[in-house]
Amino acid sequence: MLKVDDVETVLERCATFHGHLCLGQVVGVRMAKKGLELVVAEDIKDLIVMVENDRCITDAILMATGARLGRRSLKFFDYGKMAATFVNQSTGRAWRIHSRGEADKLPKDESMAWALAAEDAELLSWQPVTVAFGPGDLPGPPERIVHCARCGETVLDYRDVPAGQGEVYALCRACAFGTYYQPMI
Ligand SMILES: [Zn+2]
Ligand SMILES: [Zn+2]
Repeated sequence: MLKVDDVETVLERCATFHGHLCLGQVVGVRMAKKGLELVVAEDIKDLIVMVENDRCITDAILMATGARLGRRSLKFFDYGKMAATFVNQSTGRAWRIHSRGEADKLPKDESMAWALAAEDAELLSWQPVTVAFGPGDLPGPPERIVHCARCGETVLDYRDVPAGQGEVYALCRACAFGTYYQPMI
């Protein structure tokens, strides 16, 4: 069963990967430990983790669980929240865990030690949830590969957009909705 056996050992690996040891690493590892206990996943292939920010805790969660963005087992939702949802794909069991933020109220030099020693319920709150995965969301080979009718670039996994009502060709999201970048030439 996937689990975090020893928080301190995992934290050492997190500090190396993340670049420093911080409160977010401690909270993230504690969230991962609780999440794995709740979803009872036998194998890394059964686990999908949704993270809700791109700050310190996310690095800790991916290190502690083995979930990876490039394996489609880690998914990023840009909510700016200190929370993550742990899903056991094979059973459908899913739990969302939220950091209560109590450690943030303490002086910086005390907060990490407190977060390490706190009871789960002092540090975190958790609730069972369901997560509906869409077509092309799960690990495995791409289920759909198309080329954008405008830019010609490849679009995987149903992320293309129908070009219009009744149109059979598809656009990439950049061509359909606009880009986060502006071409210079
Ligand atoms: Zn950090
Ligand atoms: Zn395009």
